[in-house]
Order: sequence, then structure tokens, then C-alpha cells
Amino acid sequence: MNTVTPQPSTEQADNRHSNTFLRLKKKLERSVGEAIGDYNMIGDGDTVMVCVSGGKDSYTLLSCLLALRERAPVKFRIVAMNLDQKQPGFPDHILPAYFESIGVEYRIVTEDTYSIVKDKIPEGKTTCSLCSRLRRGIIYRTAAEIGATRIALGHHRDDMLETLFLNMFFGGKIKAMPPKLVSDDGKHMVIRPLAYCTESDIARFARSMDFPIIPCNLCGSQENAQRKQIKAMLQAWGREFPGRIESLATSLKNVVPSHLADRKLFDFVGIDRGTLLDEGDIAFDPQPLPASGDNIVRLVGEPRNIPEALP
Ligand code: SF4
Repeated sequence: MNTVTPQPSTEQADNRHSNTFLRLKKKLERSVGEAIGDYNMIGDGDTVMVCVSGGKDSYTLLSCLLALRERAPVKFRIVAMNLDQKQPGFPDHILPAYFESIGVEYRIVTEDTYSIVKDKIPEGKTTCSLCSRLRRGIIYRTAAEIGATRIALGHHRDDMLETLFLNMFFGGKIKAMPPKLVSDDGKHMVIRPLAYCTESDIARFARSMDFPIIPCNLCGSQENAQRKQIKAMLQAWGREFPGRIESLATSLKNVVPSHLADRKLFDFVGIDRGTLLDEGDIAFDPQPLPASGDNIVRLVGEPRNIPEALP
């Protein structure tokens, strides 16, 4: 059965002509533009293959990239790509119709990874890791076929933070999802232009745009329970402590290796008094040294008589 599930929502969609919507659109596009600029994600002549699953994130990604291409100082090609994994009930007419309606070049790839996964993984076991590996291989192969120099994925800021905590809580690693990544074989460049966008902004935008959302549970697999927990934890923090999530996101860009404990990143064994740290390794800005007697008085408190010139 071909169905399109509407995006669950606790908020009303913003009218597409309202100022609220236009502000939201501008905010998302600005954030995408900033991420692209900060990480040099797209350059002149690039072919960007945008992976579109039919979820809110990838529709938003495609929409923002198309809008930005209109006014970008560089010329690049966009090819929307969907992988039909032959999950039961996948409405395979929706994405081609959508791509046609907006006039974007596209490629639909059909590969029955669903059957492979069902065949290989015993009932009740998590299927996502094999499924993702198969999908990644097909995405890379397709990128090579269409000559894509960039593969754009729809992960956003909150996905990146969830991954950070997943890796810390369950993997013993400080590792998130990078905005830009070279594939293991060095042949592909993966970019995440939504790296600065919040999931709630994306969800609001998607509702207002009325994207034809395809449900993400067709494979019958449950969303990773641990990821769900982390998401709930971050959302609770966001409600309870305004600014905490923003600070966490900023921290991903301000890593101080000398104040962690990884000997591969910082030469703790080799340092001694007199070692000068690189600028990036300095955790706190040094306090300005008092330059005059006046400064000393202000720094230590009680004004007192001090000699005009210090020895
Ligand atoms: S949720 Fe389903 S489609 Fe998504 S990675 Fe897991 S098995 Fe694959």
C-alpha cells in the first residue's frame, strides 16, 4: 500500500507566505551557507549528489541547497538521489514525482537490500548496521557513476550531538559526526550542510513546505533504543537549561587536546616546564599581567600607597 504519513506535530505549520516562515527559511539557508563556507564543503564545478530518503531532513537539505545555488558565487550541479531498498510498502512513485515537480536532476537506484538484511540477520537482532553498510556501498557506487564530487547527507546538529553522547556513553570515545568526511577509501567526500541546523527548525520548515514525507519505519526495525534515550536526555536538557544544547554544539568546534587525556592527540609524556603550547591547546585566555602599579592595586583590591616605579 502506498501511503504518505504526515509529519507528527505538536505545533502548527507556519503559513508559507507568513513572515515567520520566511524568517525560518532564511535562518535555515543562512545556517547551511555558513556551514558550507566554514568547512569549504562545495566549490566551483562540484557535482553534489544529495541523498534524499523522503524524510524531513533530506527534503530540507535539498530545498536549502537548491535555494543557495541560485545565489551562490560558485557554479555547482545538484543531483538528487534516492535509494529504494525495496522495503515493504515503500511508495516508489513519490520521490520521482516530487523531483519532477521541482525540476531537479535525479537518480533513483533500486536495490533490494531489505531481503539481504532479512536473510542474513536473525529475527529480533538489530538490522541497522548491515543495512547501513550496504546502503553506504550503493551510495558511493552511484556517486562514482554520476561523477559526484560531493555526497550531501541530511544529518543535522542534533544528530551530531546524539552521536557524540552515544559514542561517549556506549563506545568510550569522544567522537561525533563530522560536517565533512573523506570515505575510508579516500575516493568520496561526504558533506553535512545541515550541521548548524536544529531538528526543531527543520521539522517546522518541513511541515510548512508540506513535503511528501515517506515513513521511516517501513523496514520494521525500531529506532535504536540507545539513540532514543540520548535524544530524550538532550531534549529534556534543552527544555530545562536554555542555552545548554547551543553550548554543547559550540563545544564541538572548540576542542582542547591538552585538557583531555588522549596521548595520541597531545604529547603529555614529552611536555615539561617551559613547553610552549600551540594556541589551540590553551584552554583559557591568560589573565592580562598588571602593567603598572595602578593595575596591581585594582587587581589585589584595597588601594594602598605604592612606589611610583616598581623595582
Ligand atoms: S531503520 Fe531500517 S532502513 Fe534504517 S538503517 Fe535500520 S534497518 Fe535500515
